[in-house]
Amino acid sequence: MGTGKTLDLENETLQNKEERARLEKAGAINIFHWCVILLSLLLTLSAWYFSKKQVEEKSEIRFARATAQVKNLILERMEKYENALWAGAGFLRTVNREISFREWADYGKTISIEKKYPGVNGIGVVYVLKPGQVPAFIDEQKKERPYFKVYPQHKNPDCLVVTYIEPLKDNVKAIGLDLAHEENRYTAAKKARDTGKAQITAPIVLVQDEKQTPGFLFFVPFYRGDSNLTVEERQKNIWGIVSAPFVFNKLIKGVLTKNTQYVDIRISDKEEKLYDKYKPRQENYDPNPLFQQSINIHMYGRNWKFDIRSNLSFRNAVSNNQPLTILISGLTIDLLLLTLFILLSKANQQAVNYADSLNRELREKQEKLSQANEELTQFNYRTSHDLVAPLKTIQGYIYLAKDDLKEDDLESAVSYFAMIENQTLSLISLVNSLLNLCRSDHLNGKSEEIDWKEVIENCTKNLSSMLSNHQVKIEYEITQNKIFFTQKVRLQQILENLISNGIKYSDENENDRFVKVKIESNSNEAQIQIEDNGIGIDPKHQARIFEMFFRGDTSKSYGSGLGMYLVQKHIEFLQGKISFDSQKNKTQFVVFIPNTKLEK
Ligand code: ADP
Repeated sequence: MGTGKTLDLENETLQNKEERARLEKAGAINIFHWCVILLSLLLTLSAWYFSKKQVEEKSEIRFARATAQVKNLILERMEKYENALWAGAGFLRTVNREISFREWADYGKTISIEKKYPGVNGIGVVYVLKPGQVPAFIDEQKKERPYFKVYPQHKNPDCLVVTYIEPLKDNVKAIGLDLAHEENRYTAAKKARDTGKAQITAPIVLVQDEKQTPGFLFFVPFYRGDSNLTVEERQKNIWGIVSAPFVFNKLIKGVLTKNTQYVDIRISDKEEKLYDKYKPRQENYDPNPLFQQSINIHMYGRNWKFDIRSNLSFRNAVSNNQPLTILISGLTIDLLLLTLFILLSKANQQAVNYADSLNRELREKQEKLSQANEELTQFNYRTSHDLVAPLKTIQGYIYLAKDDLKEDDLESAVSYFAMIENQTLSLISLVNSLLNLCRSDHLNGKSEEIDWKEVIENCTKNLSSMLSNHQVKIEYEITQNKIFFTQKVRLQQILENLISNGIKYSDENENDRFVKVKIESNSNEAQIQIEDNGIGIDPKHQARIFEMFFRGDTSKSYGSGLGMYLVQKHIEFLQGKISFDSQKNKTQFVVFIPNTKLEK
């Protein structure tokens, strides 16, 4: 039977352990959780990456659009100017004679240069003359404009005299200027003459530009007669050039629109800068531009290099927080997920631990319960035995006394009655001890102030017959400086039991028998010493005196063997301590009991 039970228990424990391990494993962070976090992390990163790519692509497209726009706007504008110049050349060819100052002024007004061609400084007529023809030409011009002169002098075989220019007010200084005096202008003019095509000069500073900023001249040739000629014929038939001076800043200002504000432009012809908005001092300048590009454009015989770079406005316009927001929110979610998993696994571990502690408590309680059961069985057995034994003896004595009475042997009968009385006393003492023991668990747990003298005197009163029977004197000494609180009933029983033992086990051979009680109580605890000069506790019994029903020398004791057991129970309950030292004629018990009214 017993083995079966043990086996069952072992199986149960094994099952419990397996179940516990399963629960612990199920609640811990495992590969599944890590996969979820990893997947979520991957999703976050790819969402961030794609969003970033998308934003980058959009910016790239935007920059490309802005670049193309700048290029196209300038090209378109130049084409428009070219057309205006060809229109002027056409007009001069149609008139087919040297026109007057007024006629060109009228022409200028007709085509509303300032309004229709913003950016152009003016449109002028440059006549090509041989040096010998110049004086007569000047005379002719002076008829209309007496101030007219040709300047500066030079040694080139051609003279290119700026004769008219509209609008005049900004270009007065250029009237009479011989463009052949300077190589750059002369070269471009010759090229226009020889090719019959529109040409521009390399960068120059216009005489009429007070700010002396870079500019250029735009030339379109016109011939006497047919223009569809060979180079030689063109050189021979060249009549003049329609010219337009440009100040670059003005040209660009007219060209660039709102859409091109996102890029900074530098335009250069070889090493010379025509236009430069590429300067770090600019408020919109981006030291690390997101995009930059260089393009070369063939422009009427010149090669213009466009350096275009995005500026801060561009950076602001394309700046998009979406990828960062995606990244941060994604990572936050991942972190929350991880925290959640950790918290869940911790909670699970806590639950398992709690179940463990409950199990442990349950097991401890079970053990205590079976121990208590065992003790109860023992107790029942001993009690029945100890109650029955004196009763049987009494019964025997009664029979004997009855017989003696029948035979009129009164003396013998009286001695039996005395023995019956002894047994009865022993029975009463046993029943009293049992009653005390039974009550001990249900005693009122209330702590109250102790009057030590009263306690000792109660003991003396209760034990008075015992004291006189054994001829024992009781002495006591109390030292108390603070009020002392504990459970009075328990304290009374402790003292009564210890004193009664001191009386019970007094030495008959001793004339001066005593039990001395010394009490010292302070704010923390009370120390109680109980000393007797009795027979002492046999060393071989000393380890067992607190056991239930233990009696040392039964021949010398009326006791039940429950006294010391009860004393220890009460002391444990009051959270005190007991120790003893015993030899023949000196047995001393020392008890410590804490003061339950601790002073702060
Ligand atoms: P009893 O009813 O036998 O007195 P107790 O539990 O009070 O039982 O004491 C247990 C045993 O301890 C006693 O039987 C006795 O042998 C021993 N004992 C206790 N107190 C004293 C003492 N003051 N002097 C000598 N022996 C003692």
